[in-house]
Amino acid sequence: MPEGFRVGLGHDTHRLVAGKALVLGGVTVPHDHGLAGHSDADIVLHALTDALLGAAGLGDIGELFPDTDNRWAGAESGIFVREAVRLLAESNWRVGNVDVIIHAEKPKLSAHKQAIRRQVAALLEIPEERVNIKAKTGEKVGPVGRGEAMECHVVALIQSQKNSA
Ligand code: MG
Repeated sequence: MPEGFRVGLGHDTHRLVAGKALVLGGVTVPHDHGLAGHSDADIVLHALTDALLGAAGLGDIGELFPDTDNRWAGAESGIFVREAVRLLAESNWRVGNVDVIIHAEKPKLSAHKQAIRRQVAALLEIPEERVNIKAKTGEKVGPVGRGEAMECHVVALIQSQKNSA
């Protein structure tokens, strides 16, 4: 295994509720429901943060930003990603690429994937071509398919800055 690379996996689930803005990857997506949670409940950025922390062996989002801490109430989740990137840089890691799957029955996300890609790339300070956004429905089964929740999976590759020429 090459010493200069690590991979990390992130996952998040939040319940859907009426009357809350839907924020995915830092982008507000028009919808009649949003995600319930302590912060803005952005499943994409939460899963992304966990993928980055996991790749670097730095624990998880709940350890760094506990939902019992009022500092994070209503927080924009971009701050979690930026803090993860900062912690990685301290340990001489930089982000290689990330691949994202958003599981949502509604709304159709095809029109929003490019904006999410752009926003995630900006947060990670990497070119857009190293960010991929996929969206899938729940095929009308399970909590996603019934429209009760959305989920997100993210895999992230990080590269050591020490070993790269
Ligand atoms: Mg979360």
